[in-house]
Amino acid sequence: MKKTLLILISLFLFDEAKAQKIEKGFFVYDDSTHSELKKFTNNKNVIIDHVSSSGFEIYGVKGLSEELSKMKILFTELNPVSDSFFADYPTAEMITKKMQAIQSQYPQLVTLIEIGKSVEGRPLMFAKLTAPAKRGLKAPSARPEFKYVANMHGDEIVGRELMIRLIEDLAKNYGNDSRITNILDSFQVYIMPSMNPDGAMKHQRSNANGTDLNRSFPDFTTSDNQNTMNRREPEVQAMMKFQAQHHFKLSANFHGGAEVVNYPYDTSADVFPLENLVKTMSLNYARKIPYFWNSREFERGITNGYQWYEVDGGMQDWSYHWHGDLQVTIELTKTKWPNYSNVDRYYQDNRESLLGYIEETATF
Ligand SMILES: [Zn+2]
Repeated sequence: MKKTLLILISLFLFDEAKAQKIEKGFFVYDDSTHSELKKFTNNKNVIIDHVSSSGFEIYGVKGLSEELSKMKILFTELNPVSDSFFADYPTAEMITKKMQAIQSQYPQLVTLIEIGKSVEGRPLMFAKLTAPAKRGLKAPSARPEFKYVANMHGDEIVGRELMIRLIEDLAKNYGNDSRITNILDSFQVYIMPSMNPDGAMKHQRSNANGTDLNRSFPDFTTSDNQNTMNRREPEVQAMMKFQAQHHFKLSANFHGGAEVVNYPYDTSADVFPLENLVKTMSLNYARKIPYFWNSREFERGITNGYQWYEVDGGMQDWSYHWHGDLQVTIELTKTKWPNYSNVDRYYQDNRESLLGYIEETATF
């Protein structure tokens, strides 16, 4: 009887861990030997993110701060900024409106695709950009498919802003800028500014159910190793369904909290089958941004995901393992939610790399 109860309890706990409900996030101060981080090895009840030489982020359920205090760990609350700080940023609704406005201005180049809805019913939108059919070009539907996805962590906002700027830049400069013209003549480019609009509205990492979307995909190294959609979050289901309907060749997803290009695997120490290729692409992205290239934390602004810290259930590894869609994770800025007046500059910092990474689609 006791044994049965224990099994039941551990099953329940396991399920909770898998669901990764998070309520609170903290920054834990650590040294370069990661002595505090080591205390959480194999602790599936917390999520670790953005490990650096000064510390790391930790997310968990209510009561985590009491736990940390008991462990005599030095920490501070994340995101203690006030609501007025967020006011300069567009709302999720304004982002959708902006996408619609660009689409209606450039209907021959831009299509909007709603792939599903968030927990709170907000549309999950891709803009698809490609040139119309033209003699001498591949038929639009025959062009290789590429995608960028941003803001799956709601409080990592810079990616969303860069994607809106990129969509507009591509649409506006087709026919004026030879590089952009060539990109839209050659590829089908899908751009999703926000995979977690509810989280963005709440300035929180998780979706409206308190789930970390980047720990919620199937993972070939864990017990959650079936590429099935049942019991997953609506945002994750929408992405899985969309991915299955396409043949993406290359992708990236954007985060914030560090400045680095993170290449697979995240979930395993195994050498990634296309390691040389993905490392070269990562270096090409980092090379054009001085604070990536000259990073003190990451040699040449890139890192293998697993060597940085293990991520289970991430979108990046799922993408390649089940769909052959090569994906990297780009951490754009150390500050997750910077002052809005900096965003245009971040776009300029990343513009060359963003275009260059799309062009990599043709190199393999
Ligand atoms: Zn993130």
